[in-house]
Amino acid sequence: MIPSFWRKIRYRYNLTGTKCENCGRIYHPPRNICPECRRKSSITEVDLGDRGELLTYSIVHDAPESFKLQRPYVIGLIKLESGVVVTSQISCKPSELRIGMKVKAVFRKYGEDGEDGIIYYGTKFVPCEE
Ligand SMILES: [Zn+2]
Repeated sequence: MIPSFWRKIRYRYNLTGTKCENCGRIYHPPRNICPECRRKSSITEVDLGDRGELLTYSIVHDAPESFKLQRPYVIGLIKLESGVVVTSQISCKPSELRIGMKVKAVFRKYGEDGEDGIIYYGTKFVPCEE
């Protein structure tokens, strides 16, 4: 495996963002330059935490064939403990969904490409009671 592959996986798994030390903004997905500060950017990695709150969601009835997702599936907007808002799939029954529910990140297989054997991984969120 090439290192950049694992670097991307690590970002998805750990919910790592980047912070611009110049203006304090946090970005997810990570960026290597702050669009606000440009050349004055001073970028460091930050752990965004794996728990958050569901801000809103939508139920999607269509998915790319290659994803082999169960349909319908749920896409939510999650506000993490760090204050960063991310978009992610929520793994639960639509009837379990509540705005403001606590969710946590898990590492799941999204799907695979049968012919090439490519497996797509990513972060999903699941409900968590705490
Ligand atoms: Zn900045």
